[in-house]
Amino acid sequence: MTEMPRTITLPPMASGKPNPYSVALEQLDRAAKVCGLSPAIREILSQPKNEIITNFPVRMDNGEYKMFKGYRVQHSNILGPYKGGIRYHEDVALDEVKALASWMTYKCALHDIPFGGGKGGIKFTPRQHSQAELERITRRFTHALGSNIGPEYDIPAPDVGTNGQIMVWMMDTYMNVVGFMDKNANRRVVTGKTVASGGSLGRESATGQGVVHCIVEWARDRRFDLNGSTFTVQGFGNVGSNAAKILARTGASLIAAGDWKGYILNGDGINAYKLADYVGKTGSVVGYPSSRPITRDEFFATPADVFIPAALELEIGVAEAKALNVRLIVEGANGPTETAAEPILREKNIDLIPDILANSGGVVVSYYEWLQNKRSERWDLEEVEERLAKRMKRTYLQVSEYAAAKKCEWRVAAMCIALDRVGKAYAERGIFP
Ligand code: NAD
Repeated sequence: MTEMPRTITLPPMASGKPNPYSVALEQLDRAAKVCGLSPAIREILSQPKNEIITNFPVRMDNGEYKMFKGYRVQHSNILGPYKGGIRYHEDVALDEVKALASWMTYKCALHDIPFGGGKGGIKFTPRQHSQAELERITRRFTHALGSNIGPEYDIPAPDVGTNGQIMVWMMDTYMNVVGFMDKNANRRVVTGKTVASGGSLGRESATGQGVVHCIVEWARDRRFDLNGSTFTVQGFGNVGSNAAKILARTGASLIAAGDWKGYILNGDGINAYKLADYVGKTGSVVGYPSSRPITRDEFFATPADVFIPAALELEIGVAEAKALNVRLIVEGANGPTETAAEPILREKNIDLIPDILANSGGVVVSYYEWLQNKRSERWDLEEVEERLAKRMKRTYLQVSEYAAAKKCEWRVAAMCIALDRVGKAYAERGIFP
């Protein structure tokens, strides 16, 4: 293992999108060259430590049984327990979960949080199931994972299609099955729980809040006035809706939004709070009264100051990069940008704040939730928000300074800071035996 291995191009996904794990490996390679990561460590990081796939039956409300396929990928625990979300979506696949797990390793390392990287999911469409079915699916999956998760070993959290209620079902199942003798010590087996069941104040909005911290720092650096500016958001779930609501407080105006069902526009501004309420009731932005429907192509071509992708990975391909007419892209989603799209964005002078920095507010507050559970504490909202703001600003500055010093892209800079930490830990500990 003396030479830097070449990136392998993996087959596209069933959805027709490029393979996200290829993109993750390309990002690793690009950064490894800049920061001089040892080829041996690059090789170790190019595959997750564990890939768990479980097929399990669940009884549906009509009495019939249906099989489900669940995944948990544990990428690295060199810096601490595996950490990362659980996704419920029809396109969940092993290579997607591998990519998402590896990005978690780099995200936690970037912030110097003592966690590693993991990710999981179940391949199904949650909106087609009742609450009772969702509960049985979640509990059966958690049971199947068994001691492959644990409060000091692997700590799931919400992601696309999951929320605080799903996390509470996971916690309750784990507490009753695995940690029966020491129930409360196992509460922190998941984060992103509801506040009533041991979640942290400020966790639900933390990822969106972190996105906005990045935008505010960027605006200050660029001497750009957010008051009176415009922005668009793809994906109006946890991350997209919270980012939109919080950004609106700066005087910026949401003018277009979209999700799995379609896209909407109102050049005079859309009330992000009212839109979030509407999505809560109907499940989509489509049909929101104070707007008109637009196509996906029109959405990407809508001129605005800031674009927040907050849906799925690889939504910004070459065509979307060519169409985009914005100053800044802040990656609320994980891996929303294809490798081939990045040079086009650079040529167009569009700034890009990469996912492992932009959407890291969620894992930062997940870490605070885990600490509160471990210490039997409850921090008030101000304390959580202050700590989050301080950490986001500090990490933003580190990435900005690294990029300026090395004259590299921000994604490379953020990855390099993470890889330096991971690489150092491997170098000091050595490879057993
Ligand atoms: P969510 O389920 O709350 O929302 C997802 C949104 O994406 C929904 O509005 C959904 O309709 C939309 N969507 C789904 N398929 C789509 C498609 N094909 N085209 C357009 N829109 C589509 O999920 P979330 O938690 O907000 O996660 C969104 C992104 O943010 C994901 O990439 C996730 O990995 C990332 N992320 C989430 C967190 C978190 O704390 N929840 C933290 C970091 C990163």
